[in-house]
Amino acid sequence: MVSLSKLLNQGLRDAKCYEVFHPGKTCSEFHFGKSRSLLIKCVKFFFPIATVPLILKGKNLRKKHVREAFEYYMELILTGFLISQQVPMAWCLVRRLSGKFTECNIVYLPMTLPTWTIFFISPRVARLFAASIFQVTFEAAIRNSKNKICKTFCNSKTIQALLFMTCSAFVLHTIQNYNVKAFWVVKSIPRPIESDIDAKCSHNGECSKFWLNDLAKNILIGLSIDVFKTFVGSITKTNSLFNAFGNKLVHLNFPTTFFLSSYSCIYKMTSCLLNQKSDMNGELKHIIAAFLGGISFFTLPKLTILCYIISISIEISWHLFERKKFKNNLKYLELLKRIPFHRIYTCLSVGYLVQMYVFHPEALSQLGLAMVSAFTGDQAPEMKAVFHNYIKTIKHNK
Ligand SMILES: [Zn+2]
Ligand SMILES: [Zn+2]
Repeated sequence: MVSLSKLLNQGLRDAKCYEVFHPGKTCSEFHFGKSRSLLIKCVKFFFPIATVPLILKGKNLRKKHVREAFEYYMELILTGFLISQQVPMAWCLVRRLSGKFTECNIVYLPMTLPTWTIFFISPRVARLFAASIFQVTFEAAIRNSKNKICKTFCNSKTIQALLFMTCSAFVLHTIQNYNVKAFWVVKSIPRPIESDIDAKCSHNGECSKFWLNDLAKNILIGLSIDVFKTFVGSITKTNSLFNAFGNKLVHLNFPTTFFLSSYSCIYKMTSCLLNQKSDMNGELKHIIAAFLGGISFFTLPKLTILCYIISISIEISWHLFERKKFKNNLKYLELLKRIPFHRIYTCLSVGYLVQMYVFHPEALSQLGLAMVSAFTGDQAPEMKAVFHNYIKTIKHNK
C-alpha cells in the first residue's frame, strides 16, 4: 500500500469529494441514495447481538427479557443507522470546509464526527459499543504494531492462554464477590454462605449432578450459538440459503460448544474437588478454579476472545473504582468518575478503525471488520474500492 502522504502530494490533496468518493453522483445522491439499504443492513447486523443473550438465558427466559431485548435491538438499529447515515455527509462536509484533503480529514475526521450520537444513547448501548470497540481497536493495534513485545504476544498461544487464565480468575471472582454485572460467557458459581465459606460447595445437590447439569446446559447453549451463527452466515453469502446452511453445518466443528463446555466444566469440577479435598481459604479455591478453567482457551485460541476478556476486566475494574468513595484530599478522583471515558473512547476509536480498514485491513479481525461494517452501514468496502480506484487513476495519469 502506497503511503497516504505520498498520495496527497500526487494530487489527492486538491481532489474534490465527488472525484474520490462519489464519481458520477451529486453530493445529495451520495448522502441519501442508500438510506433504505443502510437501515436493512442495521436490522440484519444487530439481530444476533440482541438475540444471542436470549438463547443464553435458556429456561430462565421470561417475557420481560424479550421486551428488554426488543427495546435494546431498536436502540441499536437507530444508533447504527444514524451514525452510518451521517458518514457520507461528513465526508463531503469536511472536504468542503477545509478546502483540501489532509491525512486527518480523508478518513479519520469524517468517521469520528458522526459518532456524536454516542453521547445521547442509553448506558447499556454505550457500554456495548465501548466494549466491542475497545476489544477490536486493542486487537488491531497489537496486530499492526511493529514492536517486538506485541509480535511475540501475537504469535505465542501460551502467553495468550496465561493472560486469558488470569483475566478469567479476575472476572469470575469479582462477579462472585462484588456483585458486579458483566456479560461473561461462563456463569460464576454462587457465593457460599458465610458459615460454609471454608467448607462445602455453594450449589444444591451432589457435585456430580451439578457438573453434569452444567455440562448439558453449556453444550446446548454452545450448539445453539454455533448453529445460529452458521445460519446467519449463510443468509448473506448466497441465494440458496438451505444448501449453503446444510453444507456449512456438515463441515462445522462446533468451536463455541467445545470452548464453552470445557471452560465451564473445568472451572466447576476444580472448584468442587478443591472444596472436598483441600483446607485452603474458600476465596483462594475459587480463584484457582476460575484460573484453571481458563485453560480451555486452547480449544478456541483466538486473539479476539482474549481481547474480549481483557475489555471486560477493564470494565469491571472501572465499576469497582466508581463504587469506591474517596476522602476529601482525593476529591479529584471523584471528578474523574463523572467523565464519560467510554463514550469519548468509542468516538475516537471508530475513525482509527476505519482508517485501519482502508490502509491495513489485514490488522482487523472478523469482529473488527464487522464493527467497521456496522459503523459505516456496510459502505466501507465500497468506499475503500472507490478510494483505491482513485489511487489507480493517479498512478495511471502519472
Ligand atoms: Zn460530495
Ligand atoms: Zn460441588
